[in-house]
Amino acid sequence: MSTRPDNAETAPIVAGRACGSCTLCCKVMEIGELGKAAGQWCPHVLTGKGCSIYAGRPNSCSAFGCGWLHWKEAGDHWLPAKAKMVIVAQDRTRLVVHVDRATPNVWKAAPFYPDLKRWARNPARYGFRQVLVAVGRRMTAILPDSDMDLGEVPHDAVIISGPVGGGRHTALVVGPDDPQLEKVRVGGSYTFTERR
Ligand code: SF4
Ligand code: SF4
Repeated sequence: MSTRPDNAETAPIVAGRACGSCTLCCKVMEIGELGKAAGQWCPHVLTGKGCSIYAGRPNSCSAFGCGWLHWKEAGDHWLPAKAKMVIVAQDRTRLVVHVDRATPNVWKAAPFYPDLKRWARNPARYGFRQVLVAVGRRMTAILPDSDMDLGEVPHDAVIISGPVGGGRHTALVVGPDDPQLEKVRVGGSYTFTERR
């Protein structure tokens, strides 16, 4: 059974892996406590070394564990410092690949893209019902049969995805008050109508 790139408290580190000189999460991740946007270097990072405020770093940093460190399904080529991408599990059902703005299209090529499609096509094996690529707030849903550019996704929005029949899948961005969301939360499925 696959391990998952959950946070550092719940998933062991894959043998032989360590951050080393990588600090990419300190650039690509948004850090709410610091008011740091995704894609900006944290002012506390020591490039190639680590965190200058390690003992007092924000909770979202201390709880963070990237997929390359914690998920053996992410091969060595996903080393963030080289791949320029950081894999993160969200809500235990969604996998988000955060891409460095300096290389926004790197995910579209092998060996990365085939991995993304494999993970999206096998939710039972890999454990993720949704696979997303994020370049800042710009999101792309990696669906089993296609990819869908979702544009700039607001912080309070919810991304819904699922099958629409005939082997096709779709995704859309809804507001936090969308009346169908409650149905999804209690285990029902979202009824896809027209794209908003
Ligand atoms: S992106 Fe992953 S490997 Fe790189 S510094 Fe952050 S936690 Fe470590
Ligand atoms: S506070 Fe430290 S660990 Fe957190 S983003 Fe900044 S440099 Fe990285």
